[in-house]
Amino acid sequence: MKPLFIKNFTREQLEAWVASLGEKPFRARQLYKHLYARNVSSWSECTDLSRAFCARLESDATLHALAVSRVDAASDGTRKYLFRLHDSNFIESVLIPDPPRCTLCVSSQAGCALGCKFCLTGSMGFKRNLQTAEIVDQVCHALRDPELGSKINSLVFMGMGEPLANYDEVLRALAIITDPDGLMFSHRRVTLSTAGLVPQMRRLGTTTPVNLAISIHAPNDALRDQLMPVNRTYPLGELMRACREYPLQARKRITFEYILLDSVNDSPVHAKELVRLLKGVRAKINLIAFNPHPGSIYRTPSQEKILDFQDVLRKANLTAIIRKSRGSEIGAACGQLAAKIVTRDS
Ligand code: SF4
Repeated sequence: MKPLFIKNFTREQLEAWVASLGEKPFRARQLYKHLYARNVSSWSECTDLSRAFCARLESDATLHALAVSRVDAASDGTRKYLFRLHDSNFIESVLIPDPPRCTLCVSSQAGCALGCKFCLTGSMGFKRNLQTAEIVDQVCHALRDPELGSKINSLVFMGMGEPLANYDEVLRALAIITDPDGLMFSHRRVTLSTAGLVPQMRRLGTTTPVNLAISIHAPNDALRDQLMPVNRTYPLGELMRACREYPLQARKRITFEYILLDSVNDSPVHAKELVRLLKGVRAKINLIAFNPHPGSIYRTPSQEKILDFQDVLRKANLTAIIRKSRGSEIGAACGQLAAKIVTRDS
C-alpha cells in the first residue's frame, strides 16, 4: 500500500481528513502547527494530542516523505542534501549561505524531461514528479540543519526538475510554504524558475505572487532551440509576450537566468540581442558562468568575456549581476544536480 504522507495535505485538506477520523476541528489546527510552525521530527513530540489520536497518526499517516541519505559540505559553506524517496529514487537540495541571505534551492521532480543540453539533471532523464510532501519536506529537513537551518530566509525552485511541469503539486507545496500558519515564508522570499512553459506560467501569474525567474540562456530561437528543446514548443516570441503580460506586483521584476557558455552564447552580439529581447520587460539578469560537469561539451568563459557581456547589458540600463558559482566542488552548483548516489548506492 502507498504511504499516506501527511504533508501532502494543504491546511484545508488536513482539516477535512482529521474530521473524517471523528476528531474536532481544533485537532487539525494543533496538528498543522506541529507539522510546520514546530516542524516536529516525530509524532511523540506532539504531546498535546490525545493518545488515541497519536496512535491513529502512527498507524495511518507517514510524517517524513524523505530520508536524508547524505549531506556534503563545500568549503564555501554550501551544503548539498541527498534525499532518498520511498520508492528509492533520489533527489537533491542545496543550501547556500550568502549573508544576509541563506537560500535553499529545492527540487520539484526526480530528474527532468526537458533535456537542456548544458544541464546534468537534464542528461539523467525523467524519473517522476515529486509529491507535495516530498517538496515541503526538503524545506522541513533543511530548517532542522543544526548550523544553518535557523538562518534560511529564501527559497528558490531551481533544483532538479521543471516546477511548472509538476504544477499542481508545486502549487500545493507553495500554499504550505507561504502560509503564515505553515512554514511562514513571505512570497517575496520565494522564487519559482521555469524554462518557459508558457501556459502554466500564465496560470501561475493569476494564482500566486511568488517571484518568477526564467531560464533564458540564449537570445535567439536558433540558439535556444539547440540548447533548450522546450523552445521548439514555446519559442522566444511567445515566451516574451507572456513575460510582458505577466501580472507583476509593484516593484517586482522577472529574473532572467543566463548561463554563459564559452563561444556559444557569450559574445557582445549575443548580449545586444538579449537587450533587444528584454525590451519592455521589468527584468533583472543573473549571469552565471557555466559549471563544468563530467561528459559536458561546454566550457566556462574567461572572466574578461563575462565582464564584457555584463558591460553591454549595463550600458543598456539593465540590471545584470554576475552570480558567484557556489558549491561546484560537491556538484551542487547550478546545472550540476544529478543525485549521483543512485548509481553508487543501489
Ligand atoms: S535546466 Fe532545468 S529545465 Fe533544463 S534540464 Fe535542467 S532541470 Fe530541467
